[in-house]
Amino acid sequence: MKKEINIKLLPQTASIKEAYTKEIAKKLKMKISDISEIEVLKRSIDARKKNVQIMMRANVWYDGEKPQKIEEEFKFQNVANKEPVIVVGAGPAGLFAALKLIEQGLKPIVIERGSSVETRKKDVALINRNKLMNTESNYCFGEGGAGTFSDGKLFTRSKKRGNANFVLDILKMHGANQNILTEAHPHIGSNMLPQIIVNIRKTILQAGAEIHFNTKVSNFIIKNNEISGVVTKNGDKIIGKSVILATGHSARDIYELMHSKKIRIESKPFAMGVRVEHQQAVIDSAQYNCKTRNEYLPPANYSLVTQVKSRGVYSFCMCPGGTIVPAATNQNQIVVNGMSPSKRNSEFANSGIVVEIRKQDFPRKEKFGVLAGLKFQEYLEKLAFKNANNGLTAPAQTVSDFVNNKHSQSLPKTSYNPGVVSSDLHQWLPSHIGKRLQTALSMFGNKIKGFNSNQAIILGVESRTSSPVRIPRDKETLEHLEVKNLYPCGEGAGYAGGIISAAIDGIRCAEKIGMLHKN
Ligand SMILES: Cc1cc2nc3c(=O)[nH]c(=O)nc-3n(C[C@H](O)[C@H](O)[C@H](O)COP(=O)(O)OP(=O)(O)OC[C@H]3O[C@@H](n4cnc5c(N)ncnc54)[C@H](O)[C@@H]3O)c2cc1C
Repeated sequence: MKKEINIKLLPQTASIKEAYTKEIAKKLKMKISDISEIEVLKRSIDARKKNVQIMMRANVWYDGEKPQKIEEEFKFQNVANKEPVIVVGAGPAGLFAALKLIEQGLKPIVIERGSSVETRKKDVALINRNKLMNTESNYCFGEGGAGTFSDGKLFTRSKKRGNANFVLDILKMHGANQNILTEAHPHIGSNMLPQIIVNIRKTILQAGAEIHFNTKVSNFIIKNNEISGVVTKNGDKIIGKSVILATGHSARDIYELMHSKKIRIESKPFAMGVRVEHQQAVIDSAQYNCKTRNEYLPPANYSLVTQVKSRGVYSFCMCPGGTIVPAATNQNQIVVNGMSPSKRNSEFANSGIVVEIRKQDFPRKEKFGVLAGLKFQEYLEKLAFKNANNGLTAPAQTVSDFVNNKHSQSLPKTSYNPGVVSSDLHQWLPSHIGKRLQTALSMFGNKIKGFNSNQAIILGVESRTSSPVRIPRDKETLEHLEVKNLYPCGEGAGYAGGIISAAIDGIRCAEKIGMLHKN
């Protein structure tokens, strides 16, 4: 017999199998020995009351019955001699598109401007050590894409659960912890993600597909509004039946290329602001209503949102127990973002606090047209550089000094490795961003004790939240609106925001191409 139950447990009880089995048996009025198996379906934290509880949903088998184990099976057949499909970009969108193409009997040729994840790890270490940006291999470019050195949060607002489950199953199959299938807010961690990416690469290569690292696409082969391949920076032509363009939102040269070739792109709203950092203990204490966090609870997170003068201001990509990282892709730019290891065990908690930027907010629209948002993003990143003026050093201010328009005489300790310099952010942030951030940070201080303090720091700028450009495509076929066989895909095309939704979009594009080849 099988029953699905929901049960509230103390954190310690929820983390020990014997302890929660005992509580489940009590709830079901059974003996522990009657229970043959418990399958945890979901765990989430209820921190609304003083005593934090874990909500668990589980399938319970009893009276001798056991679940039938169905091993997930993905058919990664050999595609070495099959029809080639070009996939530009080896981020989540490109890699999952490649896996889905293989499943459908097509041969992906993945072209990636950055290095393999092993080399990329060294490049990222050098960026932190030498404080110099490597423009082709960094926190955004290289195998695994922008999410490789991240917190690896795996949430999505997508309603397409089937595809999200496919992504989670694939990640688990390639080395992610089983708990990503049950946690309400799963995450993988920057120390685990690189090996998972290596394992996905092995699956793709073992199937006879191709991956070309350090190969930048610098042109498209288009005739009569139909794409038949791409040209690399070295001048090599790579030909394929279709092209999935999954280059992410940091590939500004791709947008410039499309614009110069009169391939239709559109501007879209996005968000920019700063990254805020606190001691994790401050967030734990506020969110769990305690002096010190119960050892069985994970480092606490938060999600904050408000409206200031008809624009949303919200927390973005919160990284409990994490580190702030330099995520620019060019010299003379400062871009900050966040990552956490799987244990989320650093002493810091960080998140982006960003202001919604609408198309009417873009300056110099007449000059830059559809690229005005992108140019605004770039302008802010350069301003941040100018105001620190020392490699990857970031301009920073304490939260309370920023809120009170005061210069920060000293700055608290930060996880940002390249270092910070005190800067009055209101002096150079456009006021429609700065003033809204000021109001919002003050309001967030009323929601989370210790949020607005001299021990909290903000670093500029958090500019790469989502793409300022959309590459329009047909809703049904997912092909570019004007260029046949071109599939704009993932975050860079404006159809995803985050690892899971980018992966899902990659799968969708691959499925559409697969259907065409079947017919
Ligand atoms: C530091 C950091 C932390 C993050 N944390 C999280 C998180 O915890 N959870 C989450 O869901 N999301 C997170 N994100 C966002 C997430 O990484 C992106 O949403 C996701 O990676 C987008 O996937 P994508 O495949 O569309 O694009 P990308 O991941 O950006 O991949 C695009 C790839 O294309 C390559 N490329 C670009 N131009 C070319 C070219 N001309 N030729 C060949 N290749 C090219 C790039 O090198 C890159 O590898 C984080 C991002 C960063 C930077």
